[in-house]
Amino acid sequence: MSKEKGTLFIVSAPSGAGKSSLIAALMQRFNLDDSLRLSVSHTTREPRPGETNHVSYHFVSNEEFEALIARNAFYEYAKVFDHYYGTSKEIVEEWINDGKDVFLDIDWQGARLIREQSPYAKSIFILPPSLEELQNRLKKRGQDSDEVIKKRMEKAKREISHYNEYDYLIVNDVFDESVLALRSIVLAHRFELKRQSNKHKQLLDAMLEGYSK
Ligand code: GDP
Ligand code: ADP
Ligand code: 5GP
Repeated sequence: MSKEKGTLFIVSAPSGAGKSSLIAALMQRFNLDDSLRLSVSHTTREPRPGETNHVSYHFVSNEEFEALIARNAFYEYAKVFDHYYGTSKEIVEEWINDGKDVFLDIDWQGARLIREQSPYAKSIFILPPSLEELQNRLKKRGQDSDEVIKKRMEKAKREISHYNEYDYLIVNDVFDESVLALRSIVLAHRFELKRQSNKHKQLLDAMLEGYSK
């Protein structure tokens, strides 16, 4: 019997809504069975203070990124805030085939491309409780210049306008509640009848042996 595949979870939000922090907390608190993975994207933007190459992102030059595009190495890629961002195909497929649930922290353009290729992907949209709070969080994060923050606030509405393309919506007000909401979405998906009946086929066959309606 072939191994049950994992699920792709796409997470999008306007920059600063908290998606990276929420996914990181989910990984720390709820990855006890090692079933969750976070895809590390390639990007051409500069690392922020505190970001480590190959952990936050694979930081590459424009030329390197374009060479990867030419090699068909990306599941999807997009230009966001004037930089390239892309999801590596090989590693994501390897994890999915190994039964892991894989999180993609990507923008609405990437989400669209993934949905077209993977009808089983589930997508989650994260909203801040207000635009004022979004700006506070971008400032509090303290990693972007005033000019970059202004640009991200201008782009926020465009990202938010795509909310209804997603399967789930979380307003990230109380952080711990949002982490639990994310966790619930992963669990609910894992306990779908189709997945569980494949997983427990032997048990079900044994229990129903000799029974006919
Ligand atoms: P099915 O048996 O006709 O549903 O098709 P598949 O063999 O393609 O899918 C098996 C399982 O893979 C399903 O339960 C999906 O939820 C899961 N899955 C999760 N992510 C992906 C993905 O990116 N691609 C594919 N093909 N399957 C995925
Ligand atoms: P994104 O990945 O969506 O750009 P981050 O995860 O970097 O956002 O979060 C932006 C800032 O907001 C960070 O400083 C983070 O600690 C903070 N933050 C995230 N969620 C909450 C929350 N529910 N309440 C208060 N601050 C939050
Ligand atoms: P940041 O520069 O704040 O880390 O990310 C900026 C935006 O790019 C976010 O909306 C984030 O979700 C998106 N992003 C990060 N990696 C990828 C990726 O691999 N593909 C796409 N399409 N978007 C990405």
